[in-house]
Amino acid sequence: MQRCLSLQDTGLTFLAFIFVIPFSFCQQKEKNNLENWTDIPPTVSPVIGKTAPSDATILFEKNNLDLWEGVKVKNPVPWKVDGDHFTVEPTTGSIVTKQGYGDCQLHVEWKIPALEVHENLRYGNSGVLFMGFYELQIYSSYNNEHKIYYNGQAGSIYKQFAPLVNACLPPEQWQSYDIVFVAPRFNEDKSIKSPAKLTVFHNGVLIQYDVSLKGRTNNGDYTEYQWHPKELPLMLQEHNSRISFRNIWVRKLNPG
Ligand code: MG
Repeated sequence: MQRCLSLQDTGLTFLAFIFVIPFSFCQQKEKNNLENWTDIPPTVSPVIGKTAPSDATILFEKNNLDLWEGVKVKNPVPWKVDGDHFTVEPTTGSIVTKQGYGDCQLHVEWKIPALEVHENLRYGNSGVLFMGFYELQIYSSYNNEHKIYYNGQAGSIYKQFAPLVNACLPPEQWQSYDIVFVAPRFNEDKSIKSPAKLTVFHNGVLIQYDVSLKGRTNNGDYTEYQWHPKELPLMLQEHNSRISFRNIWVRKLNPG
């Protein structure tokens, strides 16, 4: 206490404000060259308690499939819309978004129907195909019922990568996929430059982590990349099962 009084008396407190504090501030600034105070991330409202983030394109919320078209018959989309969800109509073909997407974050909720009578390997089959070529499988894989090769079950990158874990819920319960897709890049001569990548959360559980796809997913025994444009439509697959969908939104990443 005695020392503080002494500083005030001699005016050193004033000098401290002039010299010492700014000097300390500069020192602190020098120590923080790694801090980025320039590039402000855009503000978006998050998902919690809401349908989608504020900067997402809502591909389906309720009542209509206006942002979609059929592959076999463009319009009207041949699947059945019922309020807040819609359902695959077998044999009518897959559907695609009217707009193309490259790198993106996609949220989609889906539901396996109650027991269907099907030939083997077709129970609850659908899929989300990025750019129409890279399929994240939808299948009835709860408790590993309805056996299929593991890189063909729900959450697999079809015939390429099995999911890290099985996070499936039973049929007739809504499930979610939250996906980060990185589109492949091609060289000027149309050869592959960098592969497509996928990270996937199934019902909130990480099931695919930054996997590099080997090429287009297909039903054969060989795959490779073939050149395509930077952005192409998202596809929901019709594969004879009455899968239902709801609450679908997408955010473009690295647009342009
Ligand atoms: Mg499928």
